[in-house]
Amino acid sequence: MFAKLLIANRGEIACRIIRTAKRLGIHTVAVYSEADRDALHVEMADEAVAIGPAAAAHSYLDIAKIVAAAKSTGADAVHPGYGFLSENAAFARALEKEGITFVGPNPRAIEAMGDKIESKKLAAKAKVSTVPGHLGVIDTAKDAVKIAEEIGFPVMIKASAGGGGKGMRIAYSAKEVAEGFTSSKSEAKSSFGDDRVFIEKYIEEPRHIEIQVLGDKHGNIIHLGERECSIQRRNQKVIEEAPSPFIDAKTRAAMGAQAVALSKAVGYDSAGTVEFIVDKKRNFYFLEMNTRLQVEHPVTELVTGLDLVEQMLKVAAGDKLAIKQKDVTLKGSAVEARVYAEDPTRNFLPSTGRLVRYQPPKLGTEKGVTTRLDSGVEEGGEISVYYDPMIAKLVTHASKRLQAIEQMGRALDAFAIDGFRHNIPFLAVLMRNERWRDGRLSTKFIAEEFPEGFQPSAPKGEVRDALIAVAASIDHLSNQRRRAITQQMHGEPVRFAVTRIVQLGEELNRVTVEGGPDGPMVVTMGGKGTGERQRRVTLESSWWFGASVWEGTVDGKPAAMQVRPILNGTSLIFQGVEVPVRVFTEAEAELEALMPVKEKPDTSKFLLCPMPGLVVSLAVCEGQAVAAGDPLCVVEAMKMENVLKAERDAKVSKILAKPGDSLNVDAVILEFA
Ligand code: ADP
Repeated sequence: MFAKLLIANRGEIACRIIRTAKRLGIHTVAVYSEADRDALHVEMADEAVAIGPAAAAHSYLDIAKIVAAAKSTGADAVHPGYGFLSENAAFARALEKEGITFVGPNPRAIEAMGDKIESKKLAAKAKVSTVPGHLGVIDTAKDAVKIAEEIGFPVMIKASAGGGGKGMRIAYSAKEVAEGFTSSKSEAKSSFGDDRVFIEKYIEEPRHIEIQVLGDKHGNIIHLGERECSIQRRNQKVIEEAPSPFIDAKTRAAMGAQAVALSKAVGYDSAGTVEFIVDKKRNFYFLEMNTRLQVEHPVTELVTGLDLVEQMLKVAAGDKLAIKQKDVTLKGSAVEARVYAEDPTRNFLPSTGRLVRYQPPKLGTEKGVTTRLDSGVEEGGEISVYYDPMIAKLVTHASKRLQAIEQMGRALDAFAIDGFRHNIPFLAVLMRNERWRDGRLSTKFIAEEFPEGFQPSAPKGEVRDALIAVAASIDHLSNQRRRAITQQMHGEPVRFAVTRIVQLGEELNRVTVEGGPDGPMVVTMGGKGTGERQRRVTLESSWWFGASVWEGTVDGKPAAMQVRPILNGTSLIFQGVEVPVRVFTEAEAELEALMPVKEKPDTSKFLLCPMPGLVVSLAVCEGQAVAAGDPLCVVEAMKMENVLKAERDAKVSKILAKPGDSLNVDAVILEFA
């Protein structure tokens, strides 16, 4: 085994690799950019080497710097993680030349699978089912139309060098093929410097299901079952699971056999993933092979009981695979949710900032249910604009799929992150989605279930009752606490009415609370005069003031809620529903109704920065008249340029930002007259 391992990555995957290396007694070396000086992976590693500025091109993607770091620290192996240099054959070769082991497949396998056209040809030769299509390079739009007509509509036009969903177009007609061909070609040219495109059949409503393979340097290759990753947003995976609820043993065996055949054909010798799309009739078609560890590998680890990083290290060191295909058994179900720093209510715009609070849910295994967190940050850390906005991966495992989903829902509810917007409310709502729970999935799932994007839903049903009850119980605790203060005035005992008015958002609810603080509390709501039937909600919790998460049971069922103090009240977040709540006595509620309502400031005269970012350019000057739709300003965030446009006809009166300014969300860029 290796003595010293350099991890050529950052964030959660660097931390995850360090953890296994430490367990195996391997000394670890981290590399870090200027932006990551205080990052968790640097702290966790035994040694750390600075490799330059924040921009990945000059640090994490710089082969020479990383090879030099490995040489100077005497590392005998390098694990590339995913992304960055993980699928870069030149990097693997550069290390090989220095006698340092690349923990991944041999460079020939990386190259063979790096090109979509070439890998499909190889797959077809290895008798792997590929999407019906044309595997030649297409030169003209006219040829493209002819080929599309032969394949039959709809078709997909793809860039051979493509990745990350770039250069892909769907076409339903000859006209769309001609247009898509031209735009895909130019996008491929500008993104990858390679304008080869090809056409294949577009599989409608497919599911994305991939097979994990594992090979050694002695020609042994096995597969570890599948992962389903159909829940995607713009070709980005959001939720992954193993096994797939759609795949039967026969299909699994067939897909596994093909994945192994393809891996053998390219002499694969590490952990890798063969991606397929699967149609409604369980026909499956090869998409591409990823020659690295995948983001979603933990779900496979939880159902197989294997540590994939350990396996990768062992085979890289020359060991034979210790497990045979027949030893691989899949136990239970695992689900992974990717926690991103992005605002789900603002079309998932990236969000950045300081992690003011970072309190993961309870981890570990309890009653056969496991909760795992792969994370690369800690409280006080920062989410910067330079890298992928993924903060952590929450993974749960149980004997049944629905149990794992239930646990994921609860763990998300109990996960406290403050300092910027994140997608936990969206993930929490997803976990309660009927179609997801039934496993009726396709890659269109999010687009179909959230056609208008994600908007936090209004509290209703049991969720609303639980919110009202918890708010009332917190108020009740506060009264009991006040009553317990010693040396209060003698004489008349202080009396507290049991009736309270809970204001949930705008609506008022009359409730009574009994019990507590050490025993259960019963909150009664609805009934006579309210137009609602009467409900009694029983709560048990040891929540106390100051805790940001309320945990306990609601009518006997475990539940968790986020609790944050706000002006004259509390903000509660439960199952993705966020509401401000205030609790009054009846007399207070009467007076409250007389209070003037503070009006929201009118921001329609301002152009506000929709996300934290850098002003690239301004398209207008003071005094200029603009029409609705005219570009006003370009703001760069997360490597993407966003053009901000005028919403209506107006005149620019004042400009407050200039190119090069780094702005916070809602900062004023310009004012209209
Ligand atoms: P990339 O390398 O850019 O990620 P992939 O080939 O892996 O591209 O495809 C990404 C996603 O696009 C897949 O997960 C699937 O949802 C969709 N997709 C790709 N090819 C097809 C196809 N022929 N028919 C339908 N959907 C497809």
